[in-house]
Amino acid sequence: MTRDQLMKVLEEIVVVVEENKEFFTDLDQAIGDGDHGINLNRGFKAVKEKLSSVRDKDCGTILKTVAMSLISTVGGASGPLYGTAFMKAGAVVAGKEEITVEDSIKIFDEAIQGIIARGKASCGDKTMLDALIPAFEAWKTAFEEGESIEDASQKMLEAAYQGVEYTKTIAANKGRANYLGERSIGHQDPGATSSYFMLKAIVDVMT
Ligand code: ADP
Ligand code: MG
Ligand code: MG
Repeated sequence: MTRDQLMKVLEEIVVVVEENKEFFTDLDQAIGDGDHGINLNRGFKAVKEKLSSVRDKDCGTILKTVAMSLISTVGGASGPLYGTAFMKAGAVVAGKEEITVEDSIKIFDEAIQGIIARGKASCGDKTMLDALIPAFEAWKTAFEEGESIEDASQKMLEAAYQGVEYTKTIAANKGRANYLGERSIGHQDPGATSSYFMLKAIVDVMT
């Protein structure tokens, strides 16, 4: 992925978040405080404003700028968590003009480790990690098995989608939905859903 493609991916995420903000907020209304779409849209609007100033910078600087924008503008839990993910991603490609497949695996891994370190959740807690971790595993495995980028992308997205579906079947252990306990069962997690949409935006631009 070139620096220009990275910019396109980020611009696509901005659009996708804007288009789906009501959906994310409705999902959060059911099991949280109904602001997930508002939070993310505020954050990615700030990202959009900052992106033009880093267009000619390296991939690490671009991703770090996204992280700072999210951390400083999103009030909810998702801001620091996604912010940390983009910060860790940026550190992997500091100074680089291009992101290789190996980098992408490292980025995905580091981003997830950052979210875990910050939020202390794990798989099965009904959070964004329930989409991200299976997606990462599928992405990594596909390359170990010699699959093409197109096939790996489809498997990764399918795994993320299944992860979102899985969140409907479990009770929340982290975040605001945790207050609902068993009553959160039957509802899909807003953060897992927004993670799926972000991964889909990456794939849509790259394939
Ligand atoms: P808030 O809950 O502060 O209103 P948002 O509504 O923006 O923040 O984000 C809620 C989402 O954040 C949840 O759906 C969940 O996916 C994610 N989340 C919450 N707490 C954690 C955590 N500790 N680790 C990982 N993800 C979390
Ligand atoms: Mg919320
Ligand atoms: Mg909130």
